Amino acid sequence: MSMEKGGISVQTEHIFPIIKKWLYSDKDIFLREMVSNACDACTKLKRLYSLGQAKDIDCDAFRIDVVLDKNAKTVSIKDDGIGMTMDEVSRYINQIALSGALEFIEKYDEQNGSGGIIGHFGLGFYSAFMVADKVQMYTKSYTDSPAVTWECTEGGNYEMGEDETSDERGTLIVLNITEDESEYLDGARLRAILEKYCSFMPVPIYFDDGEKCECKEGDECSHAHGPVLINDTEPLWTKNPSDCTKEQYDELYRKLTGDYKEPLFHIHINADYPLNFKGVLYFPKYTNQYENIEGEVKLYYNQVFVADNIKEILPDYMIMLKGVLDCPELPLNVSRSYLQNDAYSKKIAKHISKKVSDKLSSMFSTERESYEKLWLDIKPFVLFASLRDEKFYERVKDCVLFKTSDGEYLTLSQYREKTKDVHENKVFYTTSPKTQAQYISMLKKQGATVVELDSVLDTQFISLLESKEQGLKFNRVDSELSELMKSEAASDIDEEKIKSLFEELLEKDTKISVCPLKDGAPLVLTVGEDSRRMNDMLKMYQSFGQGEGIAALAEKEELCINASHPVIEALAKTDKEKALPVAKQLLNLARLMRRPLTPEEAEDFTGGLCDIMLKTLD
Ligand code: ADP
Repeated sequence: MSMEKGGISVQTEHIFPIIKKWLYSDKDIFLREMVSNACDACTKLKRLYSLGQAKDIDCDAFRIDVVLDKNAKTVSIKDDGIGMTMDEVSRYINQIALSGALEFIEKYDEQNGSGGIIGHFGLGFYSAFMVADKVQMYTKSYTDSPAVTWECTEGGNYEMGEDETSDERGTLIVLNITEDESEYLDGARLRAILEKYCSFMPVPIYFDDGEKCECKEGDECSHAHGPVLINDTEPLWTKNPSDCTKEQYDELYRKLTGDYKEPLFHIHINADYPLNFKGVLYFPKYTNQYENIEGEVKLYYNQVFVADNIKEILPDYMIMLKGVLDCPELPLNVSRSYLQNDAYSKKIAKHISKKVSDKLSSMFSTERESYEKLWLDIKPFVLFASLRDEKFYERVKDCVLFKTSDGEYLTLSQYREKTKDVHENKVFYTTSPKTQAQYISMLKKQGATVVELDSVLDTQFISLLESKEQGLKFNRVDSELSELMKSEAASDIDEEKIKSLFEELLEKDTKISVCPLKDGAPLVLTVGEDSRRMNDMLKMYQSFGQGEGIAALAEKEELCINASHPVIEALAKTDKEKALPVAKQLLNLARLMRRPLTPEEAEDFTGGLCDIMLKTLD
């Protein structure tokens, strides 16, 4: 049996409607494609010049002109780059999907990878037909070959010929905008598209909206006079970090985000091996908790804007970052679903995470004072990231700070060093310095150091620390009666009697102990650390609408009666009838020291207090 072999051929009249409809869902990108081809044309010629294969080229003079002509209903794109010969037009333009860019890279740019050449998959040129029904091209190669004129209509029929009369190097493409797409004949619209996609392209781009202005010189006038420069050809991320100033970073931040608050800090990424990508990422400053913390990272491809807000390329715990990433190894027509599953974007995410932790460590060790000032702003992020990514935690754990109730900032090891003779392996913390003030003061009087941990993230983070650091235990100030507070002094009060007095006032199984304390109130209430933490977590889940049906356990308060307090001593000597109202008051007072009273307790408390006052005044 004889087999016939062949390549599948596609006829242009079939592929054109597909290009128009589906290839690019966003029509605006036709201009990005045209201008990036023009940029490529200049970059290629520069490259040839540097290799000695092109002569008499002024590399500083390259420019691209985008001109709107409303009367003629055209948008034209002109460059003075490499141009094309008749043969090249046949190969790269007349045959769809033959990318001249790839061929060029293979031939001249092996060592350099893409070397800044944008072209990627050889269909960009045809995006012109999304908005134009006729495309005209004039092109003259940098070689001696004659210029070529080319014209193509919507159906894919072209005419081309040589033009011996002209010798202006470069390419001019004229798009005759269709009736349906007349929005692209609006100067402001075109300028906005250019600013979105081309603001950082590597060759100067000028835009002329064609408006003729009647104003006289000196008149105040909002018209642009002639071509205006659109882009910054050397954006900050393409430079060496040591050549960039803080003002430049702040300016780029404002330009990218429109946020006029200063960012907390930035990271300049300049990776070339094994991952080739650059970028500047900023940590924004959020001034209130209701602000939307979702950041925005713009994705560029060799200085060509590709997409807004590429969350897929960041580790999920870094969504609040803002800034720009330039990834020349991603396709220009990248989609979100592609990024989500792409191994390359996962590597980028990892690299970014590493860079962020490196930056934190370097700020911590070289600028400790300013790091401390930033700490409370960046803390939620550092804790969250540590909880999400163990590697991140390992890298930053030594720069996590704890703010003490005296306003000092200590690392865990500094805290442990400071407290090792007072309460080894134990970290005392408060979730509310105001409501837990009495406990804090009792501990501090005995030389303890208390840190402030006031968020849900803190609770999860300390559990992580406890699991990592053998023997370490975090205790909220009201979680137990610390050995530090207990006194050795002997007390001769009748323990059973005083215990039974309070037993009458408390729920049956409440734990009551009698013990002389060095200092402090007559009664101290505590709630075990573990059960309180579990309850807190449950409440948190319930506030997010989870864990429904599981009732939070009522907090089990334990009571310690301070046997060396004069009021307790006096109470122990008084008969029960007289002692009970006072004991009740003391108990509510102790409750008030750690939490708000329930309505019944509050009523009891004020009623009891008034009775005592009346008796005193009697
Ligand atoms: P790509 O740029 O992705 O290769 P395009 O369809 O946009 O695909 O362009 C096809 C080819 O046509 C380019 O690779 C390039 O060789 C050539 N070309 C397009 N525009 C220009 C131009 N302005 N100057 C020189 N060559 C061009």
